[in-house]
Amino acid sequence: MNEKEIRDQFKLRLSGVEDGNYCFSVSCDKAFFELAELKDLQDGCLKLQIEMAKTEKLVDLKFQFSGEVIAPCDRCLLPVTIPMDFEDRLLVKLVPEVEEGENEDDDDIWVVEENTYELDVFHFVYESIMLALPLRVVHEDDEEGNPTCDPKVMETLNSLSAEANEKETDPRWDALKNIKLD
Ligand SMILES: [Zn+2]
Repeated sequence: MNEKEIRDQFKLRLSGVEDGNYCFSVSCDKAFFELAELKDLQDGCLKLQIEMAKTEKLVDLKFQFSGEVIAPCDRCLLPVTIPMDFEDRLLVKLVPEVEEGENEDDDDIWVVEENTYELDVFHFVYESIMLALPLRVVHEDDEEGNPTCDPKVMETLNSLSAEANEKETDPRWDALKNIKLD
């Protein structure tokens, strides 16, 4: 899929669409993560199911995400698979005329003109994934509580940080070492 085809999947047509319930399926994969600049995500696939309930004055959108994404470990930098299963919701109010400032307060409620041709939820989907990602990505500990990070990488990192510690000794300690005790 090229960039336009990926983006077009997130454009939900309203114009000429009768009131009722609709369902769309979209895949958010590596190409989407790159396009959306979800930079830390290296790979993975999230299945996205969008349910749209349209009435004359309101479009109620439910987003159901499920799948897994792959991001680098904060500790050893090797890939970690993160399972994801979450929902998000967007309410779109259809009004004859949008007043200034009406769209500024809430990201989950949009106000658009009732003759809007289509809704572009690309950025909304991006934000949903961003907010659902864990703040810290690390390899989980094993059953005995030991980190499952790559041991070779951890060894190198540990020796680097030990070296850094040695260089940064506190001058007050150095002074104490020189005091002779009689
Ligand atoms: Zn790790």
